[in-house]
Amino acid sequence: MDYSPGRITGARLGLVRAVAAEDQVPLANSDYRTAIGQEPRFLGHIVLSTCAGHKIGTHNSMNDLLIAGAGIAGTALAIHLARRGHSVVLVERGRFPREKPCGEGLMPAGVAALERLGIDTAGLGAQFYGIRYHCEGHMAEGHFLLSGAAGLGRGIRRRELDAVLAEVAAKTPGVTLHTGARVTGPLFERGRVTGLLVEGQPIRARLVVGADGAQSRLRHVLNLNRASRRKRLGICRHFGHLSAAESRGYVEVFLGHGHELYVTPLRNGEILVAALADADAIDGRIEELFRRWCEAQPKLASLLRNAEPASDLLVTSPRSGSARRRVLPKFVLLGDAAGFTDPITGGGMTQALQSAEMLAQHLAVEPDWTEGFLESFDSTREKMLLDYRRLTSAMLWLGKHPPLIGPVLSAMGFVPSLFSHLLSVAGGARGLLGCRRFISTS
Ligand SMILES: Cc1cc2nc3c(=O)[nH]c(=O)nc-3n(C[C@H](O)[C@H](O)[C@H](O)COP(=O)(O)OP(=O)(O)OC[C@H]3O[C@@H](n4cnc5c(N)ncnc54)[C@H](O)[C@@H]3O)c2cc1C
Repeated sequence: MDYSPGRITGARLGLVRAVAAEDQVPLANSDYRTAIGQEPRFLGHIVLSTCAGHKIGTHNSMNDLLIAGAGIAGTALAIHLARRGHSVVLVERGRFPREKPCGEGLMPAGVAALERLGIDTAGLGAQFYGIRYHCEGHMAEGHFLLSGAAGLGRGIRRRELDAVLAEVAAKTPGVTLHTGARVTGPLFERGRVTGLLVEGQPIRARLVVGADGAQSRLRHVLNLNRASRRKRLGICRHFGHLSAAESRGYVEVFLGHGHELYVTPLRNGEILVAALADADAIDGRIEELFRRWCEAQPKLASLLRNAEPASDLLVTSPRSGSARRRVLPKFVLLGDAAGFTDPITGGGMTQALQSAEMLAQHLAVEPDWTEGFLESFDSTREKMLLDYRRLTSAMLWLGKHPPLIGPVLSAMGFVPSLFSHLLSVAGGARGLLGCRRFISTS
């Protein structure tokens, strides 16, 4: 099998039934199942490379870029760079389509970023106009600021979105995508990262990117991890058979005691219900807790009364940790690997797409990829993410002070333009002071 850069190797679509093991954690007394007991419905005629049962060959010529992780950030970066003429090797441990625990709500700026990748989002998922927060009888509703299609978010199943991104990446000349191939560590030569060990085999590149998600192995192995004390757990399940009216229009957020529930409209009468909770607040069986939390919210309970589960329960391992440093010479962390921001503000996918595009722009204006250019990218990225992180911290703080939630929601109801503004900050379209946060030059 030929693994030379610029070619799509192998000819196999792996249908993945289980969420990748490192994304899951078995909790005491939990009875959740990791397997997705459904036949995948998205069967794009994608031809992906795979190394299952084969040796990953050493790429003969030097690749420009080697990316660990073909999630949102990794695939977006691969597509942007290959379109600029670079050779990119993308390595993914899973196979597509596969489930991925996520709230599945993509903010308008993220939808725009997908469009810039050449993906027609009209056929993907279901649109939503804004977000509604509910807490003990209080409700606040915020709309995205821009009118028309530019002001619409989309609820898209990750099973579908990630497979489409992988398909577009695999079809982009210059990209070689290996699926079913695990990055086991960085390749060190003369004291610096020069490539990756993929299933124990070395692959070298001019620049190495760790886009391997919130639990980034590369971040750990390179000793770039900064642990945080707060660990949050995500629990998700899809439901189907809802009427179009029931499943449409808004992401609804229900604030409970020590947890939040997110309901995202998807297409074909499906919704996703995701819970986020402090890991140390969880005792007992997860499935039972999830059911109780849903039943404690009258609006959600009534919505789910006639709905059918459309996936098994997906549980993430506790999310925490960021990076002490995000760049090393010729190495950069991207997306969640660069620092997991709590999903309470729902902008993670958008930030991953925008960061990938920003990195591609930096690589384009600095053709020699000299020392220091990654630091410049990193500081621009940090500026872009600063207000988003501030807003996330404020939301987490509010969640820890339940008596304040009702009054804050009521106040937001009185000043809807402020709420809409904060939604734009969460969605990566604006900074807190109103300036645009990311300018695409594509
Ligand atoms: C419960 C929950 C709800 C969320 N809700 C939302 C939401 O509503 N909206 C939103 O925008 N964001 C949401 N997020 C955040 C969003 O999921 C992430 O920010 C986004 O997926 C980050 O993309 P990424 O490409 O950095 O990482 P990922 O999408 O996690 O991709 C990383 C990829 O790397 C692969 N990988 C990992 N290790 C290896 C290895 N050793 N070798 C090879 N491949 C590897 C993984 O298989 C994966 O495909 C939510 C997250 C959680 C946990």
